[in-house]
Amino acid sequence: MGISNIIFALVLIGAGVLFTINIRKIISNIRLGKEVDRSDKKSDRWKTMIRVALGQSKMTTRPFAAILHLFVYAGFILINIEMLEIVIDGIAGTHRVFAPFLGDFYYFIINFFEVLALLVALSCIVFLIRRNFKKVARFQSPELKGWAFKDANIILFTEVLLMSALLIMNAADPAYEFVISKNLKGILPSDLHTLHVIEQSAWWFHILGVLAFLNYLPYSKHLHIIWAFPNTFFSNLNPKGRLTNMESVTREVKLMLDPNANPYAQPADANAAPQRFGVKDVTDLTWINIMNAYTCTECGRCTSSCPANITGKKLSPRKVMMDVRDRVEELAEAKRKNGKDFHDGKFLLGDYITDEEVWACTSCNACVQECPVNIDPLSIIIDLRRYLVMEESKLPAELAGMATNIENNQAPWQFSPADRFNWANEA
Ligand code: SF4
Ligand code: SF4
Repeated sequence: MGISNIIFALVLIGAGVLFTINIRKIISNIRLGKEVDRSDKKSDRWKTMIRVALGQSKMTTRPFAAILHLFVYAGFILINIEMLEIVIDGIAGTHRVFAPFLGDFYYFIINFFEVLALLVALSCIVFLIRRNFKKVARFQSPELKGWAFKDANIILFTEVLLMSALLIMNAADPAYEFVISKNLKGILPSDLHTLHVIEQSAWWFHILGVLAFLNYLPYSKHLHIIWAFPNTFFSNLNPKGRLTNMESVTREVKLMLDPNANPYAQPADANAAPQRFGVKDVTDLTWINIMNAYTCTECGRCTSSCPANITGKKLSPRKVMMDVRDRVEELAEAKRKNGKDFHDGKFLLGDYITDEEVWACTSCNACVQECPVNIDPLSIIIDLRRYLVMEESKLPAELAGMATNIENNQAPWQFSPADRFNWANEA
């Protein structure tokens, strides 16, 4: 084992350790959320994950982007198989270790990877053009300014560089000729020593780039390539529109409606700490809500279908998800520094998401329907509202009137219950 192999092994281990530390941090951040049971309907869950995450079924509503995304996705998964050979070569000091064993199949598979690499690079260039020059509307929203915009460009640009390095590495290898890279041989020098330097440089650039990219994932929206799988597996499989109820509130209502109920019966959770009604901060969310936020690709399909956003209201479901992730990161970091009971005095509601945004939602579920990775921004918005109504009695005047009517008249209208059947006398 030479010095370069030792350096390679150390870099590989270092990158693996760093990645594991960061993923564990994210898992512990997700665990800041409240428990919710999604262990039912296992076979439906597997089918949903295979259809939505692996099969990308919800991408097809926008076919052009879907095809380009499919190239990038397939390239990301399949080309990385070549990493196995690169890693073995790097550690053992071999050169194309699989070639002698696989014979013609080796050429077939590397040719296939090269075609895919070209398609990935071209797709990323088209995506860059759409974002930066064609200025597709859903990538121009205020929440995508700054880091979010740079993040997308960094990812796309890096993928172009990585795919180019792969093709240059193959082109600079005088012993092999593959379907795409052979066209690059003409622009490379013919001197064998220089070719070797170029091939080695491209090899190192590619592998270091892949490891750096791996460790960039936890800070990026690109994390969806990992989180899309558990996120779709744990999707909400209930019909859209079915709202969740708080157990304690449901119990109280049942007590009021059931004349035979024992008002002194102690519920199983009688000694548990009282729960907050709804959501004020990320610790009131469920772990599914927080995982949703880490899965968000910031694609904006939700926002571009949101009737509130389309009609100029101050609501973007994409921003809601980005706010949740930012707030979780902030609070989790503060808790790591100051202890798990620490709270910094800031809240998701108020410091990140305003009442105006929360009340602009029509609860139409378009965002949930459109999301390619089954994220549910509406459930977060509903629980933020639930907090405003049940803990702060803060609701718009129109709704306050309706709530008073329900309280006094058992109906949303301003009529006495005694007059409810007056309509029947009109005939
Ligand atoms: S449910 Fe609310 S946030 Fe989602 S699309 Fe409809 S109005 Fe927009
Ligand atoms: S919530 Fe879904 S649709 Fe909306 S930006 Fe995130 S990934 Fe895209």
